[in-house]
Amino acid sequence: MADISRRQFLRGDFRGSKAAPLRPPWARAEPAFRTACTRCSECLGACPQRIIVIDPERRPVVDFSRGECTFCGKCAEACAPRALERRAGAPAWRLKARIRNNCLARQNVVCRSCGDACPAQAIRFHPQPMAAALPEVDEAGCTGCGACFAPCPAKAISLA
Ligand code: SF4
Ligand code: SF4
Ligand code: SF4
Repeated sequence: MADISRRQFLRGDFRGSKAAPLRPPWARAEPAFRTACTRCSECLGACPQRIIVIDPERRPVVDFSRGECTFCGKCAEACAPRALERRAGAPAWRLKARIRNNCLARQNVVCRSCGDACPAQAIRFHPQPMAAALPEVDEAGCTGCGACFAPCPAKAISLA
């Protein structure tokens, strides 16, 4: 399952960790993806959100610090070798947002940035007595779109 930290991404440290690179939506399983992807970069230009970038091996990865995936499917449409293959009914990926302990609300600082950013309204805030409300991700509702990633002032969101 893909889960790369920003530090890992920036230093291109994909193979040194257990985490697989975060490929664009509808990517084949990593070994098949690596075989099929010709590194043509067509998916980068096709993405209207401009969230697809290249890793140090010149294969595409998603960078949620640049924005969210709208699941428009343009990247998969542009992928002639079908390393990205959109199939009817198949989810784009199994990513879910997770909130780490450095979340400001968990330090009793009022913050709802992630919830405000979530188009699926999948982050619920639970009121606490005399304390900041605590966010919780509804896994069933989370699409893994990444919209909550960049707005978090504490960088407390990960997608895995
Ligand atoms: S589905 Fe659309 S928004 Fe998402 S990565 Fe592909 S082109 Fe970009
Ligand atoms: S369009 Fe397909 S083959 Fe080309 S870089 Fe993107 S994933 Fe790889
Ligand atoms: S990844 Fe998208 S759907 Fe999931 S909690 Fe974040 S903003 Fe909401």
